[in-house]
Amino acid sequence: MNRFESQLAAEKLARLSMDFQVTVLADWGEEISMGTSTWKEGTWSLAELDRLYDSLSLFANIMGGNENFKTNLGRVTVKKAGIGSHGGEAWRGEVTFSVTNLFTPWTVVHEFAHIWDENSGWNLSRRLERYTGGFTSRFLSSVKKYLRLADLNGFVKADEPGKRGRKPGCNKRGYFYGDKPSGSDWNFNRVEDFAESVAMYVGWGKDNALHDHAHARISRYELANGEIDPFFRTKDNWADYAKYFYPAGGDYAKTRRWRFVEEVVSKKPILQLG
Ligand SMILES: [Zn+2]
Repeated sequence: MNRFESQLAAEKLARLSMDFQVTVLADWGEEISMGTSTWKEGTWSLAELDRLYDSLSLFANIMGGNENFKTNLGRVTVKKAGIGSHGGEAWRGEVTFSVTNLFTPWTVVHEFAHIWDENSGWNLSRRLERYTGGFTSRFLSSVKKYLRLADLNGFVKADEPGKRGRKPGCNKRGYFYGDKPSGSDWNFNRVEDFAESVAMYVGWGKDNALHDHAHARISRYELANGEIDPFFRTKDNWADYAKYFYPAGGDYAKTRRWRFVEEVVSKKPILQLG
């Protein structure tokens, strides 16, 4: 971000604050030391502020507008930090994007969905787990791993086809997802399930920036075993996994996850769930 761009950025920050109660911690600006002033570029670009704003608009749209969004999520702070290989984190009203990895509209919706869940006291993800007929059991997960029924390398995942822990209960947490999520891996649990379900709902069947990602998550199960999926560039045994993830007729809107999000967003803002 240069000096000139920072003027446009200031307007964008004001709109993010007003429309979504989102505060971006600017890492650019004038730095004064020893009496001389130098411009600090920071890591944010104007395009990223636009992407953040536009993605939040898509999110707010499914809730019926910005006011509902603000009620559902509360105040949110956004910053960039070194967070390793993943694209984002969300915790205690704060969303962190990676300084090195690009964040996408999908990442924005996913991370803000975590904040929504957090603001409900993690009630939304618990309700999703129940609604879809899933449960979490480390014990049964251990049994499945011990009996060598897991798609793992023994008890842990390996970065190769058929060993990423995608089957129910074969993840780190022992999360036995119900119905058909759009995907799963070693890090999957009900909280991640909820965030992915929200992002899927935003992109599925709609002409927006999340559409391609949402549809690619489903169409990969039409591939043969050992094929590299063209969107995510991952090689896996897609045909084997289709029975866990590929919805009836390839239509994600027929899944319980889609219906759950549909029900949650069509109600009034969730202030307190009993
Ligand atoms: Zn997540």
